[in-house]
Amino acid sequence: MVITRDKVLDWIKRYADLLAENRDYLTQLDAAIGDADHGANMDRGFKAVLSKMPEMADKDIGTILKTVGMTLLATVGGAGGPLYGTLFLQAGMKTTGKMEMTLEDWINALEAGITGVKNRGKAELGDKTMIDALVPAWNALKQAAENGSNLGEALERCARAAEEGMKATIPLVARKGRASYLGERSAGHQDPGATSSYLMLRAAADVWRD
Ligand code: ADP
Ligand code: MG
Ligand code: MG
Repeated sequence: MVITRDKVLDWIKRYADLLAENRDYLTQLDAAIGDADHGANMDRGFKAVLSKMPEMADKDIGTILKTVGMTLLATVGGAGGPLYGTLFLQAGMKTTGKMEMTLEDWINALEAGITGVKNRGKAELGDKTMIDALVPAWNALKQAAENGSNLGEALERCARAAEEGMKATIPLVARKGRASYLGERSAGHQDPGATSSYLMLRAAADVWRD
C-alpha cells in the first residue's frame, strides 16, 4: 500500500476541513493559556493553502508539501505558523520528486518535519507543546512499521498516540511559547498546538487508511 500524490492532497484538504471545524475549539484552548488566536491562525493558513490547490494538483509530493510549508510561513504569524511551516517544508525536502510514498517514506518525512520543529522551537518532550503530540505519534508509527503493521494500522496507532500525547499535555507546566509566561498556572489546560498536531495525524489516518 502506498500514499499517492492525490492522497497527499486529500490529506491536506481534510486537515484544512478539520481546522475549520475546530477553529473555535483551538481558539478556546489558546484563550486559556495563550492569546486566543491558534484556531484563527491555523484556519487562515490552511485557507491560504486551499487556494493553492489548483497549482499543486499536478506536482510531486515534495513540491506539494513545500508549497504548504511556504504558504504557512507567508500567511501565519506567531509561533504555530512558522513551526508548522517548517514541519511541512522539511517533510517536503525528504519527498522531493516522489509521486507516491511508502510507509517508510512517510516515517522519514515526518521525522524530518519533527526535527525541523525541534530545531526551530527548541522544545523538548514534556514542555507542553506540539512536540508532545508529534514525538509519541512518530514513535508509535515507527514501532508499528517495525512490528509489520500495514499502512492503515500504523497510521491509526500514530493518530491514537498523538491523541494520548495531546491529552497528556493537560497536567504539564509550559516551558516554551506564550503559555510558559503563565508558569504553574498553565497546568490543567490542554495545549492548543498539540491539539492541532493530533488533528493533522488524525486526518492522515482517516484519509490514507485505504
Ligand atoms: P502564538 O503562541 O504565537 O500565538 P499559536 O497560538 O498559533 O502561536 O501557537 C501556539 C502553539 O505553538 C502552542 O500551543 C505550542 O504547541 C506551540 N509552540 C509554541 N512555542 C513552541 C516551541 N518553541 N516549540 C514547539 N511548539 C511551540
Ligand atoms: Mg496563540
Ligand atoms: Mg499569537
